[in-house]
Amino acid sequence: MVFNGTKEAERLIRDELIPSGITDERVLDALRKVKRELFIPQSLRDKAYGNYPLPIGENQTISQPYIVALMTQALDIKRDNTVLEIGTGSGYQAAILARLASTVYTIERIESLLMKARTNLYSQGYRNIFLIGGDGTAGLPEYAPFDRIIVTAAAPKVPETLLEQLKNGGKLVVPVGGRHVQDLKLVEKAKNGRIYKQSLCGCRFVPLIGKNGWKD
Ligand code: SAH
Repeated sequence: MVFNGTKEAERLIRDELIPSGITDERVLDALRKVKRELFIPQSLRDKAYGNYPLPIGENQTISQPYIVALMTQALDIKRDNTVLEIGTGSGYQAAILARLASTVYTIERIESLLMKARTNLYSQGYRNIFLIGGDGTAGLPEYAPFDRIIVTAAAPKVPETLLEQLKNGGKLVVPVGGRHVQDLKLVEKAKNGRIYKQSLCGCRFVPLIGKNGWKD
């Protein structure tokens, strides 16, 4: 059968994402526009719109579409927001964020993935995504504070440094728990600076490796 990305994306949205509670039209629209097949190895193209993670090399994965959608929806991104992402991976999540926010900074520790994502995003025309190499658990103090922060690798606890770099009124999503299974946490910093945490669901991410994460 001939691969039809638009049709497959529509099926995924209609049959899997909407019934699971992804109803924010802006998020659904971003998921329609960003072609997942352009962020995975060519050989896996037929699986691009399956609701599961896929390998992207270097033992890393592109997240399950439902989890990408859930994290994005939970962030409730406003047009003028500056977003920080830790764990660029393929660059797919960054592309989704870039369609909703004004500026996206994304940090990746594996050089080869960073280079690949940078070339790919640039050739697709994204100009509001800034890709940075290094340990994202330190955040990006020179551009802080951020309206929204998303961590797409599993942390042993909510990284304190990132909380410090979140604006009052800001939101952060991060998988927290063990190296293999975690709880997806939404952390909100109120206008007065108070921190509120809630669990969204169970999840499985690759480990966040760094100073304020897991040791290699
Ligand atoms: N958001 C990605 C998927 C992330 S996979 C996508 O849309 O494809 C998790 C990524 O986090 C991996 O590429 C891994 O190398 C990276 N990572 C792990 N620890 C990190 C750290 N401390 N700083 C930056 N990137 C990290």
